[in-house]
Amino acid sequence: MTRSGIGYDSHRLEAGRKLMIGGVHIPFDKGPVGHSDGDVLAHALCDALLGAASLGDIGTHFPDTDPKWKGANSLMFLEHTRKLLDEKKLRIVHLDAVVICERPKLGPHFPAMRAAVAQSLGISLDQINLKAKTNEGLGEIGRGEAIASHTIATLEG
Ligand code: MG
Repeated sequence: MTRSGIGYDSHRLEAGRKLMIGGVHIPFDKGPVGHSDGDVLAHALCDALLGAASLGDIGTHFPDTDPKWKGANSLMFLEHTRKLLDEKKLRIVHLDAVVICERPKLGPHFPAMRAAVAQSLGISLDQINLKAKTNEGLGEIGRGEAIASHTIATLEG
């Protein structure tokens, strides 16, 4: 059986915080506000994977009230999600994702992000695709006040 799930996440961006996307630190003057490291791509991917597996969402498994996840590297969430999929005998077929922010340019960091996500999930580079968009200056994202990600996961099992 083939299963699919969607994921979405967004975070406010504030000056002086570390910008982590797809497990990669990207030098920039702003970063996400969040309980963990605020990695929108990792969070949206978790939700897509959990959705495809009918396992709820990231808040169920990694509650932001739990001090254990304060400042956590979100690749840990992906690693844990992989274990949950393994337990259900589900295999990742493919992931696709778009990250939306006005700045910085993300394309140059995609190879490192794909490698980090693929390693966390035990998949090959060919099983994950990343895309970047700006919001054409519109709304909070366009003003550089927020970052968002949409993802889709396809599983088999
Ligand atoms: Mg999040």
